[in-house]
Amino acid sequence: MPKLVSNSVKPSAGSILPAENPSVYEAPILHIDLDAFFASVEILDEPSLKGKPVAVGGAGARSVIASASYEARRYGVKSAMPSLLAQRMCPDLIILPGRFDRYEYYSQRFHDIINDLTPDYEPLGLDEVFCDLRSLSLLTPDPIAAAWNLKGRINDELGLLSGVGLGRNKLWAKLASKRSKPHVVKGQLIDGPGVLWVDPEMEAKWLVELPIRSLWGVGPATAAKLENLGIHFVRDLSKVGEETLAIHVGPAMARSLADYATGDDERAVEINRELKSIGHDQTFAKSIRSVEELLEIAKSHSAIVARALRSKEQVARTISVSLRFDDQSAVSRSQTLPFGVDDETAISAIVGALMETVPLKESVRLVGVHLSNFLDRSENAVQLSFDIDSGSIEGKAKVAQLSQERQVSKEALRDAVDEVRAKFGNTSLGTLSELGDEGLEIERQRGSHAFGPKDSRAT
Ligand SMILES: [Mg+2]
Repeated sequence: MPKLVSNSVKPSAGSILPAENPSVYEAPILHIDLDAFFASVEILDEPSLKGKPVAVGGAGARSVIASASYEARRYGVKSAMPSLLAQRMCPDLIILPGRFDRYEYYSQRFHDIINDLTPDYEPLGLDEVFCDLRSLSLLTPDPIAAAWNLKGRINDELGLLSGVGLGRNKLWAKLASKRSKPHVVKGQLIDGPGVLWVDPEMEAKWLVELPIRSLWGVGPATAAKLENLGIHFVRDLSKVGEETLAIHVGPAMARSLADYATGDDERAVEINRELKSIGHDQTFAKSIRSVEELLEIAKSHSAIVARALRSKEQVARTISVSLRFDDQSAVSRSQTLPFGVDDETAISAIVGALMETVPLKESVRLVGVHLSNFLDRSENAVQLSFDIDSGSIEGKAKVAQLSQERQVSKEALRDAVDEVRAKFGNTSLGTLSELGDEGLEIERQRGSHAFGPKDSRAT
């Protein structure tokens, strides 16, 4: 039995509610797919189309339909169908040419709403997203509630309907979102559950019933090869060994199929490379007053976020520091650089400069370092490279090659540090930022209170 049944936007009174909702560990993967996306955007922009059979696609002899409204689907019109056939099935069909700037605009707003739920998401085209909910174990302990909330926001703020699937992996989440949507039976539109979680019982049932073609990742060519081997349903996969499959579909696909046969799926949610921010926060068991200790912590946070950033092959232009004090007040400071950085020495130099502008009025409970405003490494005008192994031959060559750039970088970084002080006021009693041969070092005067005098600027 489906775990939640209702209309398309909110759980209805007659919903079959599960006795207990799954935890994020039972349903870690969410897949959301906007309904009839291109056609729906056309109807939103031109309300007179509402209730009419609308499709987006080409009108030529060899054109196909890209997206069809539910009114058009009642006539059997589907995406990827030849436009001529669609017009024959539905003579009143309104075929529009498509406006990709509008679809991109709505897609961006869709991603913004997703990002509010979690930054751990992977877009698939313009109108589908996989989310990994595991990072939200404390924030969102109930994936079904999170799914309804997400659907509700997308409907309220964008005017778009969607289907949401939850499962233990991408395979089930994607199958579930498809089955959560309305579908047409004999010209009648039948409501889907809206949100669907595939629990272990349903998995077992689907494994028996599912046609091989319905598996995400099994394209028409692979499906045809499998059908030639007598494999029509997922349940048939177990009849053929992985070795035999490998001969026909290659070893990688054979491995995946062997997984799918048991409902497993190794594919991870590939987190969006266009991240909004990367951060590291730490709350202390015992509040800290020592400036040296806080700067050491900020430095280690800088190293952690720098490493995360480099793994994305991106550089960040904006560096932020947040502090929370014992009295629960909080301060954040940020600086946007004219260039991107991905090096922990550079990041901790800016972090240090930002921290020096914060009056240390109380002991500190939390220190956070965040990076945002990303560029691809290749787009970055000024490369900062402090982490070259100058001992090796390649390293020596690289140092020579970069020495000029590095000189520019040092100056640019020094300017940025000066700008921080100018912007927030130099409340610091310490001295700042010397760029030594080994990179940038923060020196301070003995006994200084680097977070500034008590009577300093407001938080
Ligand atoms: Mg869609």
